Amino acid sequence: MEYQGRHTRRVLLKAALGSAAGLALASPGRLFAAGQAPAASATQRLADDLYVITVPGAENVLARTGAGGVVLVDGGAAASSDAILKAVAALPGAGPVRTLFNTHWHPSQTGSNETLAKAGAQIIAQENTRLWTTTDVKWPWNGQVFKRLPKAAQPNKTFYTNGTLEPGIRYGHLPDAAHTDGDLYVYFEPQNVLAVGDVVSTAGWPTVDYITGGWAGGMVGATQRLLTIANEQTRIVPSRGPVLSYADLKAQASMYATIYERLSTLLNRGRGPSEAVAAKPTKEFDAQMGNPDEFVRRAFESLWAYLSPDA
Ligand SMILES: [Zn+2]
Repeated sequence: MEYQGRHTRRVLLKAALGSAAGLALASPGRLFAAGQAPAASATQRLADDLYVITVPGAENVLARTGAGGVVLVDGGAAASSDAILKAVAALPGAGPVRTLFNTHWHPSQTGSNETLAKAGAQIIAQENTRLWTTTDVKWPWNGQVFKRLPKAAQPNKTFYTNGTLEPGIRYGHLPDAAHTDGDLYVYFEPQNVLAVGDVVSTAGWPTVDYITGGWAGGMVGATQRLLTIANEQTRIVPSRGPVLSYADLKAQASMYATIYERLSTLLNRGRGPSEAVAAKPTKEFDAQMGNPDEFVRRAFESLWAYLSPDA
């Protein structure tokens, strides 16, 4: 119950923050650029029974095949769902999808929920993720509204801390709240592959979704936590972009620690989001990660949500 209370308080706090900040319209989040016609999918084999499926314009889906049915991590956006499920069905040894993990509530992850649940799949998510799918969410920075999911599309098996799906498949909450407050990882032990959703990616700066709990400090905590779950040989599968190595994960953890420290310093000096952007706190990473302005703005605002004395 304590957890639920914290969740609710944070929602209220963030709603207040959004209106107080009076943010101007920005371009729609690239994560949710919808409507592209899904072209041919690409399949990357990580092991005999483990594949990354990428439909152009959609985020990565990780598929584990086996006698008991397919286990998926994330299901892509609704517009890409048909193409993704076709690609899954075409994998060697594929059967029906038995289990789908939602790494978080975003539409790019939950677009196959309804189809798969109606076909009998178990949809596993951290309880906060389920809660976000039961309510409309509005991003104040660009006005984007995400409608609650129909009951049939909501995760039907939730957990708070961690669990084991079967021997060799462990999953757990990343309570640091890097991207949202319901982020989960799934670790496929025999294949030594770790699925991390949108917590880590080298393919551009993330959306810091502080409306549903993500924050810059959480990016530091969660990347450091993932380093303790992974080992030097682990391959890390993010929602966006290429599969990462342990060294890549380490570099991300160190990058976010540097940025967090700079943003905290700016906050303590009484600076605001625009001054944070002007201070270029990400400058040595921009060549790799791209234009940082929206990221820096959101990351700075996320500090208000977590660190302000009246929060
Ligand atoms: Zn996301």
